[in-house]
Amino acid sequence: MEFYSTNDTTLRVNLKEAVLNSLPKDRGLYMPESILPLSEEFWHKFKEMSFPEIGYEVSRQLLKGSVEDTELRQMTAKALSFDAPVRSLGDGMHVLELFHGPTLAFKDFGARFMAQIMSYLNREEDKPLTILVATSGDTGGAVAAGFYKTPNIQVFILYPKGRVSPLQEKQLTTLGENITAFEVDGSFDDCQAMVKQAFLDEELSTTFQLTSANSINITRLVPQSFYYFRAMQQLAMEGKKIVMCIPSGNFGNLTAGLLAKNLGLPIHHFIAATNINDIVPSYLHSGKYEPRASAATISNAMDVGNPSNFARMKDLFGSSWEEMKGWISGYAFDDKETMGAIKEVYEKYNYTIDPHGAVGYLAAKTYQQDHPDEEVVILGTAHPSKFPGPVEEATGAAVEIPERLARLAELPKEAHAIGTAFEAFKSMLMKMAK
Ligand SMILES: *Cc1c(COP(=O)(O)O)cnc(C)c1O
Repeated sequence: MEFYSTNDTTLRVNLKEAVLNSLPKDRGLYMPESILPLSEEFWHKFKEMSFPEIGYEVSRQLLKGSVEDTELRQMTAKALSFDAPVRSLGDGMHVLELFHGPTLAFKDFGARFMAQIMSYLNREEDKPLTILVATSGDTGGAVAAGFYKTPNIQVFILYPKGRVSPLQEKQLTTLGENITAFEVDGSFDDCQAMVKQAFLDEELSTTFQLTSANSINITRLVPQSFYYFRAMQQLAMEGKKIVMCIPSGNFGNLTAGLLAKNLGLPIHHFIAATNINDIVPSYLHSGKYEPRASAATISNAMDVGNPSNFARMKDLFGSSWEEMKGWISGYAFDDKETMGAIKEVYEKYNYTIDPHGAVGYLAAKTYQQDHPDEEVVILGTAHPSKFPGPVEEATGAAVEIPERLARLAELPKEAHAIGTAFEAFKSMLMKMAK
């Protein structure tokens, strides 16, 4: 399988290039050159398949020939060490819970799979791969947990001192082993500037095999298509139209759903749910794509003003607005409506939903007014305990932090305290290389 750039389909690279150099020179995004429907044989076995088996078959189709079968089977098993259960609320609504991984959000799926693939692609190199990331909180946690103890890989994470939540900091600084944290006395932008400079630094680039783990990497999308299959398998509602409702920011999750559809999964329709950063719902309505600066909301993982995966969505619909709006309905809601939805879901269905899921719930409910006979699966992108402020305010009840995360609070923090001077950071890295 080769991968092309959405800006120039003649620009083609292999998996290694697409993964380790995730941004094509022409600033497009990589896509698999062909996405063919899965075989009859797959569908015969589908009902009985385990989650890792689904992952194996789906990734084999999307990465065809790029990874040896036995290796791929092991990697998907390692990546899918937790499930994605469906919880039915009633009234034709279901929540696909994607927050049973180490950092309680769906990004754990992408990070874990990407770690496995990167380790595999680097297996014959004599230098380990060095992942360098700046984080304002969540991404770094998912990357740290996903790459923890992965062979041939070391991870350097920079985070701004005092500007990530205490629990997020613990996620970055308590693992040890191949994960090294740098606590920067500065802002997130300072962290990002240092990372950018490191990538441009010749001495560092020859000493380390540097790569980033950013969200546009194609190997983060691939595993996100697995759980659409898992959802369908659990619902097993013959004769029912199943609609997927995706609370969205950068639209990676929705794009992964489109990949699943193109692989032959019988998804009837998609719902793009956003907060007031409604660039895509507006586009679906007007045909005009108008990115703008993002506005802050309580569903902050969706505060995106220029969704990076829009290029992939457009590509999958042959740049046709009519095609896209035939498949996707878009709705947007503000924070007040979101708070009301958290309360409503809690009171009506006795279910605690996080602010991102609540935006999805509102979109699902709106869609169902015109499509009462269709079943809607809302992607539960994060555990409610990640957003205790709004959730507790809306429900009036305490949210419990899952045991595995609460335990982290007890562990000692280990981080290198540094300033924002690049040279000092660099000399520290150079010493570590020896
Ligand atoms: C990242 C994230 C989203 C947005 O997902 P995209 O793939 O960027 O659209 C939604 N909810 C939560 C909790 C997230 O962490």
